[in-house]
Amino acid sequence: AKYIEAVIDEYPVVTDLQLKFWDWICDYYLCYAGELLLASLPASLRLASETIVVPIDAGIGVYDKLTDAERVVFDALIENNRMALADIADLLQRKSVYPLVKSMLEKQVVGIEEEVHDRYKVLTKPFVSLAENFKSDAQLNEAFDLLKRAPKQQDALMKVLQLLGGNHQAKIPKSTIISADDSLNAAISSLQKRGILNIEYIPVDRVKGNEADGKVLNLSVAQNGALESIKEGFEQDKVTLLHGVTGSGKTEIYIRLIEETLKKGKQVLYLVPEIALTGQLTGRLEAYFGKQLRVYHSKFSNNERAEIWYKLLDGTEVKLVVGARSAMLMPFSNLGLVIVDEEHDGSYKQQNPAPRYQARDSAIMLAKMHNAKVLLGSATPAIESYFNAKKSKFHYVPLLERFGKAVLPNIELVDLKKATRDQQIQGEFSDRLLDAISDTINGGEQVILFQNRRGFSPRWLCTTCGWCPECKNCDITLTYHKYKHNLRCHYCGYLLNPPPKCLACGSPSLKMIGFGTEKIEEDLSMLLKDARVGRMDYDSTRGKNAYQQIIHDFETNKINVLVGTQMVTKGLDFDRVGLVGILSADQMLSFPDFRSNERSYQLMMQVAGRAGRREKPGKVLIQTYNTEHWLLQAIVNGNQDLVYQKETQDRREFLYPPYCRIVNITASHIDKHTVEGAAKELAKQLRVFLGARVLGPEYPPIARVRNKYRMEILVKLDGKVDLVKAKALIQSKSEELKLIKAFKSVRVILDVDPY
Ligand code: ADP
Ligand code: ZN
Ligand code: ZN
Repeated sequence: AKYIEAVIDEYPVVTDLQLKFWDWICDYYLCYAGELLLASLPASLRLASETIVVPIDAGIGVYDKLTDAERVVFDALIENNRMALADIADLLQRKSVYPLVKSMLEKQVVGIEEEVHDRYKVLTKPFVSLAENFKSDAQLNEAFDLLKRAPKQQDALMKVLQLLGGNHQAKIPKSTIISADDSLNAAISSLQKRGILNIEYIPVDRVKGNEADGKVLNLSVAQNGALESIKEGFEQDKVTLLHGVTGSGKTEIYIRLIEETLKKGKQVLYLVPEIALTGQLTGRLEAYFGKQLRVYHSKFSNNERAEIWYKLLDGTEVKLVVGARSAMLMPFSNLGLVIVDEEHDGSYKQQNPAPRYQARDSAIMLAKMHNAKVLLGSATPAIESYFNAKKSKFHYVPLLERFGKAVLPNIELVDLKKATRDQQIQGEFSDRLLDAISDTINGGEQVILFQNRRGFSPRWLCTTCGWCPECKNCDITLTYHKYKHNLRCHYCGYLLNPPPKCLACGSPSLKMIGFGTEKIEEDLSMLLKDARVGRMDYDSTRGKNAYQQIIHDFETNKINVLVGTQMVTKGLDFDRVGLVGILSADQMLSFPDFRSNERSYQLMMQVAGRAGRREKPGKVLIQTYNTEHWLLQAIVNGNQDLVYQKETQDRREFLYPPYCRIVNITASHIDKHTVEGAAKELAKQLRVFLGARVLGPEYPPIARVRNKYRMEILVKLDGKVDLVKAKALIQSKSEELKLIKAFKSVRVILDVDPY
């Protein structure tokens, strides 16, 4: 028997259902419980203890053994008996004091203890006030006398008095005192120890909810019909797919369903593909649901995330969580509804690191565990979802008209072959597109241009010998970024200064091939002087509020042409977009992946959906060298059925999801022969049981990334094989590979239902 030293939690920070759900993810996606914990728990909830440093009676002459910095620490320890590492760091104003403490440990002047850390501290902030005995002016004068030889502490006390502004009973956040001068931090600790100041931890809201102020809108007849049909699906306990074209007003329907669920006292999870892109949406939801809603955001700090976690757990205020895929890993106890908005979006699948789960598919399981309803919404449903709807596994609800007077935009192809032949092209712009842009902005409307590649130009080429700059760590050509004037690898970040001459043959004739968003932005600014061009891509939105700023500039017409990557395709709702231009459909269509048709279709339809969302009809121009391509023809003719029919047919013929499940196995290692040996061995082992279902191994299109070679094995699990057993086999065979000495350090990654 041992004594209980401390109670870490008064109640569990993880719910039963959450554990059950995590277990399911681990089983299905072949990952480990630890990987799931890391992905789920905010770090402040993971720490259970902290390191405390205590002084050891080191005898006479101890000071002679110590450096100056160590002496300061030692003095403080003698005074306080014990200090946390973080407090020592505060005292010395250093980020890390571990090397210092380590050296003191070696000299045996200090020891360390582990102390249970107070998790709930993440819900509080330190506030400073005058101690009871130092509230009157006379007492304060006395205090300043005491501090004669401590000028820093005098400064700190002065600052506190100044901030108290005469109200000696008040408490002020410590952060406001040290925000101007963080060297006051240590002085405040000293003043506390002298008994002049009090420090108290008071609960605060780091992420405050907003007050509700929105009126509920009246639904249109079509919206009402869809709402009723969704409820029918719910009554049959079916996953329901709302296929609502862009601008059909899906959000208002969601709002009704959320409201009804909350009224029943149940929780709601609202998943969106990328939370950074949902400012407009969360604004609308907050207006209705006020403080019941919290957005769960990976850009939030640890403590902020921990706070939302606790608030959901205690269940008094927060009932509705809006977030990207990781929000589904939070401690729900009583879900009534899960909404997966833009359910077709590829970012619902986590790629790296593990757990590599598909959030839409997992949401269905999560809802099942809670006995909750599931609504999937999209203007361009995933082939898999559409397939399930056709087979009546999902309840299907179409909403094929836009809300109000808005109509779907008119889509037109621009033949680049012809434009080139007739010399009606400047840079990447056909005259047709350029004229349309110019007409649109002259008419006071705005333009969105989509180019699915960032940077300036994705390839440099020596026209003499064909050399082109490649990454030294990866098998990929470097992309030129003009603004920063460098060549960059989009896989590992490797940078190269653009060489003035070919590095292979010395010829100065280097040519840029292909184009990215940066070049479109620059070219257009030169071609049309009325265009005020803004750009939205990974490079231009890295700062915390950069994205909101660009949206704001577009909303207020400070920019009238927005150039962007797939970011501009997602959920944006602007009043004045008269034209959407797609600079090149061909790059997307030729991407080597079984989903490339589906993805191209979704991207083009989604970006087209940004046009003409109010009274005035919008226009979409798609530039291509392949005007005859069946998919483009289907888009122009609005023949969505054909897209789904042809795609499902192809998938059946070539055996791809939804006709089978795929497990992708990637082996990687620095040495090419080792990878090859390991991958071949693993494939051989798997074939013994799974036969021709095992394909490869093969090198992927980019065979080397960050100096590691990769080989892939594709396992197609059809209906005839026991899925659970087959996956367990794949997992155990991959683990056994490490028992072979030569393959010990080969990394094997399993990806179930890969994207
Ligand atoms: P979707 O998400 O289906 O593309 P949205 O939900 O963004 O469409 O709706 C498109 C536009 O129509 C939005 O500006 C929205 O405010 C407006 N809208 C939708 N439903 C209603 C309604 N019932 N009353 C008034 N405006 C509506
Ligand atoms: Zn050359
Ligand atoms: Zn690289």
